[in-house]
Amino acid sequence: MLTNSRIAYHRHDHKRCINAALCRARELCDARKARFTPIRETVLKTIWASHRPLGAYDIVDQMSQSETSAPRILPPTVYRAIQFLLDQGLIHRLSSLNAYIGCPFPGNYHSDFFLICEQCGSTAECSDDQVDHAVKHAAGRADFQVGSKVIEIVGICPECQV
Ligand SMILES: [Zn+2]
Ligand SMILES: [Zn+2]
Ligand SMILES: [Zn+2]
Repeated sequence: MLTNSRIAYHRHDHKRCINAALCRARELCDARKARFTPIRETVLKTIWASHRPLGAYDIVDQMSQSETSAPRILPPTVYRAIQFLLDQGLIHRLSSLNAYIGCPFPGNYHSDFFLICEQCGSTAECSDDQVDHAVKHAAGRADFQVGSKVIEIVGICPECQV
């Protein structure tokens, strides 16, 4: 069982999450000979600004706000960077929210399931072999070939329950 739920919902030094995520991304891209360009890095950093999923429009918005002196960032550039990060498994897309979230364990095989707080938006990612087995078993019985699976569970996080 893999999860980042302990930190995703509670107060912590989030700079460490960002630094760790950027560090892992650099290592993975180096190992795969994929180019981790400054724009891709900035997009990843923007998505990792919190543990809440961010829509593509918000990513563009936040980037153009923080880079006032730099040349204007065009949405297609950002969308291409998002696609790159998705392809590398550095972020995931949550279809129920049409938003993106940084992956805390890229490069490791994991079953993507997400616990999304409907009040504050904080989202934890989990991976569990038993969930994998259950999905495989159900799909197998239906002779169904599984492509991608992202399981999204909506509810209330521990911080919002009080
Ligand atoms: Zn954090
Ligand atoms: Zn992940
Ligand atoms: Zn919450």
